[in-house]
Amino acid sequence: MKIVMMARNPNLYSHLRLKEAAEARGHELDIVNTLRCYMNIASRRPEVYYNGEKLPKYDVVIPRIGASVTFYGLAVLRQFEMMGVYPLNESVAIGRSRDKLRSMQLLARDGIGLPVTTFAHDPKQTEEVLSLAGGAPLVVKLLEGTQGIGVVLADSDRSAKSVIEAFRGAGVNILVQEFIKEAGGTDIRALVVGGKVIAAMQRTGADDEFRSNLHRGGSAKAIRISPEERATAIRSAKTLGLNVCGVDMLRSNHGPVVMEVNSSPGLEGVEKATGIDVAGKIIEHIEARAKAGKTKTKGKG
Ligand code: ADP
Ligand code: MG
Repeated sequence: MKIVMMARNPNLYSHLRLKEAAEARGHELDIVNTLRCYMNIASRRPEVYYNGEKLPKYDVVIPRIGASVTFYGLAVLRQFEMMGVYPLNESVAIGRSRDKLRSMQLLARDGIGLPVTTFAHDPKQTEEVLSLAGGAPLVVKLLEGTQGIGVVLADSDRSAKSVIEAFRGAGVNILVQEFIKEAGGTDIRALVVGGKVIAAMQRTGADDEFRSNLHRGGSAKAIRISPEERATAIRSAKTLGLNVCGVDMLRSNHGPVVMEVNSSPGLEGVEKATGIDVAGKIIEHIEARAKAGKTKTKGKG
């Protein structure tokens, strides 16, 4: 197969591993810098250009769209979809996962366990939002944050109020969440590929840190997850329509709760912690599923 990967940095561990795994199985994989792709939105013959040339016909596109380039990246991905290229994850599904509020609303609709989460626009409702979420301690987070940046733990209602006001003053959207204290600065990431959990790790934050992100100094180890956690991860992937994703859960007193679903999960942490060839499993999934034009939405919606 001819595969194109949209990625800004071809030398990232995840990107190198996917290329290696594809080539080891006899496929061709080209990496294109998402931001250097440009397109011709002509009717009935969508095309993508790169470095002065029209890109050849690919069978599969692997989107690795960084959070900071979501808008442009999804436009390029939609263009590939309109050309009939099979996307590892569809643009619509990635769009759902990038917005924490939108994804939580979809997960809630399907009855998936979530931390109590509140959202409001009007600053006059700050008090109500705090009490709806159960009062301090509370977690305040940016709707489109990533790598733990923009996630704040407020110990008292007073500090929660100032954090909310500060974020609001900066003109960004936030949600307010019950703090799952019993998780103890630890979360679980389950890697779902093609409707199955193929690897799971537990991440623990550095000392004195409630955020377990590896980018914030957290450490990872392989774990066995419970059948309930497995089912929650698989259902979350299905609800958002993602073929490949990392489902992040906390172990709460009332069972697993989903914090977010990542549509471009990093491979380094999980492969090193578990010894599982995640890149190989992703390519095998593509081999089993990829068919030209077989996207549900073809970039619609
Ligand atoms: P990001 O997209 O920046 O990774 P997350 O929502 O995943 O944001 O939060 C980052 C980390 O903060 C999580 O991995 C988890 O360790 C911790 N965290 C987030 N929300 C909560 C919560 N409601 N209760 C306890 N810990 C949380
Ligand atoms: Mg996270």
